[in-house]
Amino acid sequence: MSHIRFKALEESLSRKPIIIDTPAGGVAAYYGENVFGRDSMRLHLSEAAYETVMAAVEKGERIDRSMAEVIAAGMKSWSVSKGATHYTHWFQPLTGTTAEKHDAFFEPVEGGRAIERFGGSQLVQQEPDASSFPSGGIRNTFEARGYTAWDPTSPAFIIGDTLCIPTIFVSYTGDTLDFKSPLLKALSALDKAAVDVCQYFDKNVTKVIATLGWEQEYFLVDEALHNARPDLATTGRTLFGAVPAKGQQLDDHYFGSIPDRATSFMRDLEIEAHKLGIPIKTRHNEVAPNQFECAPIFEEINLAVDHNQLLMDLMQKVARRHNFCVLLHEKPYAGVNGSGKHNNWSMATNTGKNLLSPGKTPKTNLQFLTFFINTIKAFHDNDDLLRATIASAGNDHRLGANEAPPAIMSVFLGSQLTSVLNELEEKVKSGKMTPDQKTQLKLNIGKIPDILLDNTDRNRTSPFAFTGNKFEFRAVGSAANCSGAMTVVNTIMTDTLVQFKKDVDGLLAKGMEKDEAIFQILRNYIVASKRVRFEGNGYGEEWVKEAKKRGLNNFKTTPEALESWLNKKFVNMFVRHGVLTEREQHARYEIYLETYVKKIQIESRIMGDLAVNHIIPPALQYQNTLINNVRGLKEVLGAAEFKKGSVTQLEMISEISTHINGIKANVDAMIEERKKANNIADWKKQADSYCNKVKPYFEIIRDHVDRLEMIVADESWPLPKYRELLFTK
Ligand code: ADP
Ligand code: MG
Repeated sequence: MSHIRFKALEESLSRKPIIIDTPAGGVAAYYGENVFGRDSMRLHLSEAAYETVMAAVEKGERIDRSMAEVIAAGMKSWSVSKGATHYTHWFQPLTGTTAEKHDAFFEPVEGGRAIERFGGSQLVQQEPDASSFPSGGIRNTFEARGYTAWDPTSPAFIIGDTLCIPTIFVSYTGDTLDFKSPLLKALSALDKAAVDVCQYFDKNVTKVIATLGWEQEYFLVDEALHNARPDLATTGRTLFGAVPAKGQQLDDHYFGSIPDRATSFMRDLEIEAHKLGIPIKTRHNEVAPNQFECAPIFEEINLAVDHNQLLMDLMQKVARRHNFCVLLHEKPYAGVNGSGKHNNWSMATNTGKNLLSPGKTPKTNLQFLTFFINTIKAFHDNDDLLRATIASAGNDHRLGANEAPPAIMSVFLGSQLTSVLNELEEKVKSGKMTPDQKTQLKLNIGKIPDILLDNTDRNRTSPFAFTGNKFEFRAVGSAANCSGAMTVVNTIMTDTLVQFKKDVDGLLAKGMEKDEAIFQILRNYIVASKRVRFEGNGYGEEWVKEAKKRGLNNFKTTPEALESWLNKKFVNMFVRHGVLTEREQHARYEIYLETYVKKIQIESRIMGDLAVNHIIPPALQYQNTLINNVRGLKEVLGAAEFKKGSVTQLEMISEISTHINGIKANVDAMIEERKKANNIADWKKQADSYCNKVKPYFEIIRDHVDRLEMIVADESWPLPKYRELLFTK
């Protein structure tokens, strides 16, 4: 076996960086060239068709069939001019990845000839067989049909020879089966709720969009080494591996200089991303060895999500060219940091204002405070739902593991804004403020220096932190589709804003003056949401105790966390705002449980297989070497000398036996538990069983294997070791 490891090592050490020339003319020359964006639309569409698409993007107006026909023709002529031969509806099923089914543009006609064909109906709708995508019981096989429908708000793009059309994915019965449709619904609900509230401050606001800037963390590993680790290749993480002498303890990787091979990969990725209009802007090393991050300039959420999905795909493709594999798993290696995907979120108006930017004038400050405090209230009222939305088998390794935000949901504001809120709470307390006090309050808030933007205390231990002009949801998993978290954030914000307006209007109806009514309700919200505000160290033991006192939940595992999907309060909220029906929520809950079960099941199988078939044999072989050595010593040495000379070998022989027995016994016991779990029909009970009965064996088995790795001769060890995976440049 070991020759595979050494061949892989040799191969990986012989790699040279692949030189990538930046295309002539700089980024401006090729940015967005593979996107059917504004410029290409102007060239390939009639004025009327162009205006129709723009009205759909900006105002959500419908596109009728005859216009779709015209747009399809333009889209086709553009993509054929760029060498495309196929088209696909590109969608985001609940597997978390993206799906596509390519069809050629041409259609055969009589006489053995073919004509190019792609019209309005092909653009607007397709019918992929939905039966192989997760549906949570919504779709019976007899109605396996699903529909994909064009989302004109996200532009079509070309990958290779294929025109990709972003679409939503629904079942025959109209139930959503994807991540995109509920997000679009939540965004439209938020638009309305936020515009209504903006009207208190500025009559010119007619549209509010939500913005997202994600930061994608990932690991790079040499392709040959990756392929020599069946656990990495099939589960995305290493199930074994003794912690190397050097990990991240020297803190020498974060922001360090990026190794050449990785730099070439990044440059190549950026060029490809820019051609697709993904505005990647930053790249740097992350905390762990061979861990990196890239981040774009923020965009409207729907587009930002599509771009993130596209980028994750692109990363894998580009990495192959550089003989790398990209690991998007939340915890590929034990003992070093895992990966997350920070979701920076805010809202912007059609008047160009960021609603979470403190601004300079008192008027916008009261507007800022309104949205700021409503966000905190939304978080407070829905903390368990937020926890549910980031739950996954992979993320369980991060949350609460002292390297990422804890599984306890809290909000960080920074000292400056905390004191603004305290002051507001204090001053409004009397119930009636003098005009002077109001002005004073506004002016004080007006004194928030612009410097705040660059200067907000960067508390890295909070799952939801205000960072100057946006909130940063830091607990999202690196492999997740941002839509999950973003649908929830926008829905809870909608719900809170709708309530806020009701509350304020209630006071206005009683004759209270507007500013005072707003201050009054904001104060109530500040008081009501205090529980989730936490400025201290989120990694500390004290916080766990303090949070418990405050009644905050600390759901450490996915099955526990997912339970909140069934909470009536949340179910009703989604229904109220037309984001998800009760049936759809149930289906989602089941799909998430099912995914969890399958992930743990696969890990368990691979673990058993590797431990018994890959680890035990070389351990036995090495033990035989030791046994032969002892026999030889007995032959050549006198009794007294033999006794001294064989101590270590005998100890090692017995230690190896201990671990081999430990592995075998625990793998057998784990398989027994797995069998029992597999017979459980109820998803929740099955997930609990996998979580509490099967998974605990992972650590025990791993411990035996990792100890063997430290004893068995290096040359006999079959799997690339951590130092090789983590430090190959
Ligand atoms: P850090 O790593 O310190 O958290 P970065 O500069 O890497 O910060 O990332 C900040 C992210 O926040 C970027 O993706 C940026 O585009 C995004 N961002 C900035 N302003 C907004 C905004 N108004 N709405 C959403 N995202 C934003
Ligand atoms: Mg960040």
